[in-house]
Amino acid sequence: MNEHPLIETNNLSVSFPLGKTFFGPKLFIHAVAGISLEIPRGSFFGLVGESGSGKTTFGRALLNAVPISNGHVKYNDDEVDYHLEHLTKEELKDYRKRAQLIFQDPYAALSPRMTVRDIIAEPLEVMGLTNSREETDERVREIAARCRLNLEHLRRFPHAFSGGQRQRISIARALVSNPKFIVADESVAALDVSIQADILNLLKELQDELGLTYLFISHDLSVVAHICDHVAVMYLGRLVESAPTKELFSSSKHPYTRALMSAIPSLDPDHHSKAQKLEGEIPSPAAPPPGCKFHTRCSYATDMCKQEEPKLEHVGDEHTVACHRWKELDLQAD
Ligand code: SF4
Repeated sequence: MNEHPLIETNNLSVSFPLGKTFFGPKLFIHAVAGISLEIPRGSFFGLVGESGSGKTTFGRALLNAVPISNGHVKYNDDEVDYHLEHLTKEELKDYRKRAQLIFQDPYAALSPRMTVRDIIAEPLEVMGLTNSREETDERVREIAARCRLNLEHLRRFPHAFSGGQRQRISIARALVSNPKFIVADESVAALDVSIQADILNLLKELQDELGLTYLFISHDLSVVAHICDHVAVMYLGRLVESAPTKELFSSSKHPYTRALMSAIPSLDPDHHSKAQKLEGEIPSPAAPPPGCKFHTRCSYATDMCKQEEPKLEHVGDEHTVACHRWKELDLQAD
């Protein structure tokens, strides 16, 4: 996709042990199964899927916050070139300041006993990035101002702030170490719609000012359509489709992507999508079905779909899809 992506995953898998069955071997939850994708530098890269699709685990793997079971993750920002599956202690320490997370819930993420100044300063102190209290304060004031917080805010405690203000504090804390890569995991999901727009605009401004690359994880396709330049779709730990946002929304090729889109509320009361609706539950990642993992919910499934897992194929330059029938299905006509 990009000559020098910031992040490149190759067959990345993350599994968690579930314990032993009485007679059989240890069981595993395969939260992420063999994902290969590239996140271009400076992109606002969306990752969507239902709850249980593995998108949060994928994001955590890119932050080295969960162990990589298989495959590779490469990070390259011109200054350093890291392979996340075997970082040295020193590299891991350095990577922590380069890659940060913005949490979903701004209420739970901030310690109620710390002032805003201390919350934002904490990563600098833990990572040893400043040499004096004056230097720390200067950096805190600088990043707080970028996140539209003023000096008065720094002296207060989190309970004095609204949800939107708290999320700006979370963003300032994530950015204080001057990272290049941000995983924003459902970062506006807990906010009112009007506040969501405010935070999304702030993230975009910060991207332009600081040259950030985002992995923006969301279950809300209307938000992703508005802010992201490329979108990847996950289902049961697999990547099922990935394309530039405009192309994905105008010519998606995977029935699951299409079904997710049909769930976006339309402003037109006469618009009734005939696309397949998502019914039933996503299967357990501890016991995924054989063949295409979506076949248990797909109205286009054939016998082959039930037996063979489709591989990711190139549909266009930057558009990939994993569906046996993508060439013959005309999903846009549905
Ligand atoms: Fe549906 Fe078959 Fe395509 Fe899977 S491979 S999405 S079951 S048509």
